Amino acid sequence: MRSLRLQPHRVLAVYAHPDDADVAAGGVLAQWAREGAEVRLVVVCDGAKGSHGHSVDGPALASVRQGEVHRAAEILGLTSVTALGVPDGEVSNDQQLRSRLVALIREHRPEVVVGPDPTATFFGGVYVNHRDHRETGWSLLDAVAPAAGMPLYFPEGGEPHQVGHLLLSGTLEPDVVIDVSRSIEVKMAAVLAHASQLGADDAEVREIVSVRAEQAGRPVGVAYGEAFRSVELAW
Ligand SMILES: [Zn+2]
Repeated sequence: MRSLRLQPHRVLAVYAHPDDADVAAGGVLAQWAREGAEVRLVVVCDGAKGSHGHSVDGPALASVRQGEVHRAAEILGLTSVTALGVPDGEVSNDQQLRSRLVALIREHRPEVVVGPDPTATFFGGVYVNHRDHRETGWSLLDAVAPAAGMPLYFPEGGEPHQVGHLLLSGTLEPDVVIDVSRSIEVKMAAVLAHASQLGADDAEVREIVSVRAEQAGRPVGVAYGEAFRSVELAW
């Protein structure tokens, strides 16, 4: 495990559900935004099935979550949020999703792309990674390398752009930690903006976010960290 410090100018984060980015990478996204980077978020799913309640109205929930993601993005200082509106549970790493992601990468031209590690399936024998996370991760990987950087892939999708650095969260094989000690409070506030998704009171949520960030930071000696699998793309 090593400590990683990046100062990108443009960042694209791509996640499945409206709260995923804040939980996985809210600290580093906030930090980069504060340092002047353009940080853009793509949310693939509509969030309409994100509830254990039987009587929840899906479209109404999606609209609540849309509001939450915009509030959280404001807290993090993101430049924009793009919602692709795929129904929860129906993400597929298909040509259509790849073409949308390639077009967004070519439009925003990020040096760093952040998203879910699609290879993570089982966590600690108690949790199966959501299919939408895995499919989003695979689609993002395929969009970044090689499609976005090669002109003959999706020629209608803009000028080719080669992403330099991929950071994958929710990974079983983290190899870098980014210090988020200066943005941990902002991350907590962004996570708390997703009130429809929180099964605990605010103090408990803050405690969970804090403990996880402490655990992530410990191997590299920082108070609070976020861990990723890092891929520096050679081209
Ligand atoms: Zn999710």
